[in-house]
Amino acid sequence: MSTEILPTSNLEISIVVPLLNEAENLPELYQKLNQSLERLKKNYQIIFVDDGSTDQSLEILKQISLNDRKVQVIRFRRNFGQTAAMSAGFDLAEGEVIIPLDADLQNDPNDIGRLLNKLDEGYDIVSGWRSKRRDGFILRRFPSILANWLIAKMTGVKLHDLGCTLKAYRREVIENINLYGELHRFIPILGHQIGAKITEIQVEHHPRTKGQSKYGISRTIRVLLDLIMIKFLMNYSTRPIQSFGLIGLLSFLIGFFVCGYLSIGKLLFPSGVSHGWLSFLFSETSLVERMPMLVLGVLLLLTGVQLISVGLIGELLVRTYYESQNKPIYVIKEIIKRQD
Ligand code: UDP
Ligand code: MG
Repeated sequence: MSTEILPTSNLEISIVVPLLNEAENLPELYQKLNQSLERLKKNYQIIFVDDGSTDQSLEILKQISLNDRKVQVIRFRRNFGQTAAMSAGFDLAEGEVIIPLDADLQNDPNDIGRLLNKLDEGYDIVSGWRSKRRDGFILRRFPSILANWLIAKMTGVKLHDLGCTLKAYRREVIENINLYGELHRFIPILGHQIGAKITEIQVEHHPRTKGQSKYGISRTIRVLLDLIMIKFLMNYSTRPIQSFGLIGLLSFLIGFFVCGYLSIGKLLFPSGVSHGWLSFLFSETSLVERMPMLVLGVLLLLTGVQLISVGLIGELLVRTYYESQNKPIYVIKEIIKRQD
């Protein structure tokens, strides 16, 4: 085997496989992964993350890891979800490049080499694009096309297929990203935020032949909610008062003028103004007729005050958010200085 001449440390590739009840797929997956990786002649490790499987998955993985030092298995206490599973794998991964893929053989380990070649052209993230995706159209492909289009529009990251697990990431990018909820699909977007260079290549996709898919249509809604959150974080996370405050101020000012016209205007021109543009506001109208205007004015005033307060509270939260995690508001690529 080629690995004997390679040093054991200095890992080049970490494969991360999140899985839930994939016993029927694991032996074949392991075999295919091994074949593809050995061909690359690189130092690699495979991390399987058992996300609370209730079938034979764990036993199979234990057996595999007993016979192969390059394989590590993380076992969760219960099912925490694919994002958590990937995140655990990323935390343990030591390779310079981290490549997650699904355990159900829908992704093809043969694509790993091409992902790496593309990464070597100077990218930080190479995203897999299942251009010939082998899933149902109505419940899977169509919602996915819409979601990817919307995400591209809203975030400026123009990728065709965020949902494809098979992607290659440079380790530094992953180290600078915290995953929550279902965010593994948004890693390229989060990467884009910290300045990662991103591209995509077409990858194979096979129909699932064994085991069951773990997701239904409800995933689309969760993806949309995540998108709103990401967009929010992208634009406003460091300066909430700038966004909330601006709308708040605008609302407050309009409300102020409306209420001002209705109260002081009435005092200045008690009998109304019959000529010129002011007549629209100060014509002889009863209080009841002015009521809608008054309500609008008061509403705008209150909304303004509320939004400005939210902005200020947001500022407090943002400070806690960054300071509690010791998280800088920037990401450094490298520091260049003379060595003498
Ligand atoms: N998965 C997981 N935890 C979950 C759900 C899914 O680890 O809670 C794994 C699953 O075993 C598979 C991958 O995530 O390896 C993708 O899931 P699936 O194939 O069901 O999604 P689909 O391909 O149908 O979108
Ligand atoms: Mg699948």
